[in-house]
Amino acid sequence: MRVRARLTPMPATVRDIAVSEVDRSEVLRYLGYRGQELTPQLAGRLDELVAHALEVARPRASIRSFDVEARELDDAGTPVVRLRGCALALAGHDVSRHLEGAVAVGLLAVTLGADTERELRRLSLTDHVAQVVFDAALTAIVERAADGAEALLVADAASRGLYTNWRYSPGYGDLPLSCQPTFLAVLDAGRRLGITLTPSLLMVPTKSVTALVGYFGEPQVGARTGCATCNLRDWCTLRARGVTCVG
Ligand code: SF4
Repeated sequence: MRVRARLTPMPATVRDIAVSEVDRSEVLRYLGYRGQELTPQLAGRLDELVAHALEVARPRASIRSFDVEARELDDAGTPVVRLRGCALALAGHDVSRHLEGAVAVGLLAVTLGADTERELRRLSLTDHVAQVVFDAALTAIVERAADGAEALLVADAASRGLYTNWRYSPGYGDLPLSCQPTFLAVLDAGRRLGITLTPSLLMVPTKSVTALVGYFGEPQVGARTGCATCNLRDWCTLRARGVTCVG
């Protein structure tokens, strides 16, 4: 067990996240492929559009962490996790389970930027097939960018002698999308990343992700099996220092 350093939570921090490649198989998964044969012509077109998506995307993240202040029940009996010095209340049975035992919470917002939105619109008017593939490529890229942002939170937790679990987003389980305005405000994501919300609380640019991870005093079972297979390894600063997040 690590001895926890007495460090304060991380203030809002904005970083560019370098994403230079994505797996073709990931893009195919978002396109609904289930092992069907890919002709050389289709594979070539797909690779072309993935490369184009990687050129257009400008992955950028805002991250911040807060200590857990209290756990309580609201008037409807729903568990709520409150964070110290933060207006965001995390209400829901699932998110409460996700944060059971957590002493702090890391928040992240990532986006691929307005250019991706413009290009999606342009393709929707000129080449529908290309738009669908480009959209799937961007989805794979924004998930990689979220991995990069999560790696920053893992390093933040480690700097406090803490261990993280894995990311959990508004809209999962019973954590309502209605927390999105406060979630984004806490990260100053409108000003820093250009993320806005539609009346139905969907993010614009559409290729944006918000998520939280719990910080714990002990390694979390199932969080990560090791560096060799870890999705965060491309951005992990712990490995570079010869330490790991798994104790
Ligand atoms: S690469 Fe290793 S140390 Fe870094 S987050 Fe993954 S499992 Fe942890």
